[in-house]
Amino acid sequence: MPKPLVAIVGRPNVGKSLLFNKLTGQRTAIVEDTPGVTRDRIYGSCEWNGRNFDIVDTGGIEPGTDNEILLFMRRQAEIAIALADVIIMVTDVKVGLTAADADVANMLKRSKKPVVLAVNKCDSVGHTNPDVFEFYGLGLGDPIEVSAVHGHGTGDLLDFCVEHLPEKDGEEEDEDVIKVAIIGKPNVGKSSLLNKILGEERVIVSNVAGTTRDAIDSYFENEHGKYRFIDTAGMRRKSKVDDAIEKYSNLRTIASIERSDVCLILIDANEGVTEQDTKIAGLAHEAGKACIIVVNKWDAVEKDDKTMDKMTENVRRDLSYMLYAPVMFISALTGQRVEKLFEMINSVANQSAMRVTTGMLNNILADATARVQPPTDKGRRLKIYYMTQVGVKPPHFVAFCNDARLFHFSYQRYLENQIREVFGLTGTPIRLTVRQRGDKDE
Ligand code: GDP
Repeated sequence: MPKPLVAIVGRPNVGKSLLFNKLTGQRTAIVEDTPGVTRDRIYGSCEWNGRNFDIVDTGGIEPGTDNEILLFMRRQAEIAIALADVIIMVTDVKVGLTAADADVANMLKRSKKPVVLAVNKCDSVGHTNPDVFEFYGLGLGDPIEVSAVHGHGTGDLLDFCVEHLPEKDGEEEDEDVIKVAIIGKPNVGKSSLLNKILGEERVIVSNVAGTTRDAIDSYFENEHGKYRFIDTAGMRRKSKVDDAIEKYSNLRTIASIERSDVCLILIDANEGVTEQDTKIAGLAHEAGKACIIVVNKWDAVEKDDKTMDKMTENVRRDLSYMLYAPVMFISALTGQRVEKLFEMINSVANQSAMRVTTGMLNNILADATARVQPPTDKGRRLKIYYMTQVGVKPPHFVAFCNDARLFHFSYQRYLENQIREVFGLTGTPIRLTVRQRGDKDE
């Protein structure tokens, strides 16, 4: 069953991001400084009283002018109502109750979802701030006094969330099932691809529901394996609200990516890579997911023998941060190469779960450093003592060295490429963390 989701909504500047960081324990993603890659982590996970769930900050890009605020908040609320199991509405005790707060509170109430009201910036502990009382007027029950800066009140918030999460269904996820997210901008052919797959294969198809959230996955198996396509509710039968949400929010995409093992990033062959595609692909890359770049509508393109190479070149140039991802050309309409997708999905899923022994890694390291000497600075040379793998999905390596400042990005890239080459590793990002002797936990 999908992990339950808690959404945070509220006016700009009420302290949503700070609260989000407090609740998720400030899990920071290792992110490259690459254009097109979003840096704001607005999706994190949380464990409280033995329950695991995700938290999302629906804030995203905040509006600049006052008259946009209400619209912005309504969108947030709509997204939260559509996706979340529990909603945290954040207000600001210093500003007091605003008309926009009241408007959104009404929307949330009508949704019948569990909502908890956090009154933030109650920074002094020990006595109730009298300014909190007016927030009873929102009709969302007892407001909880919170200080995102100091962290107090967050335990009460999490208690409320956990109490109102959907029951666990106790079903263990089958390890062999590969979770696939089909992502891409509107009209790129996501629904067509899914329907082609589900419609044509002689397969067992079922909807996997089980939460109050309307994220319905499609499960199916064929001779290649077992697959669960993530959040396919809106793809199988397009509904108005799904369209509306898709238009202005990449939140649903982020949620799907987070729950997936493999992302199929759809690009429209007629248009090439657009800015929106770059952003969406960046989300999958940032999340460290195995990726396949799927150029769809290949049937609709006038082709000669160079078209595919040219298109590949464009994809490589515009999505240069994910050179590891294989590129495939398909037609969801005719079914061309759709079957081949499965081999590729299996391949990249395997790679992202790959484990390498420390012994093997260090052989590679010895070879690599012998071939290209590590950089020096003012007579001091980088020494890499050893490497070890600390995680999978994606493969995550740690390199211990004498001086992290000498470990330039280009040399990291070089090592990364050596590892990729030796293990034939494609389709998955790799994380490399550099540790210096004397760093904590060594
Ligand atoms: P979604 O919004 O990403 O789910 O996109 P849809 O699956 O609804 O497709 C949008 C439009 O593109 C529809 O009119 C489809 O018929 C069309 N389409 C999707 N895949 C293909 C394809 O491979 N070739 C062609 N020619 N049209 C396609």
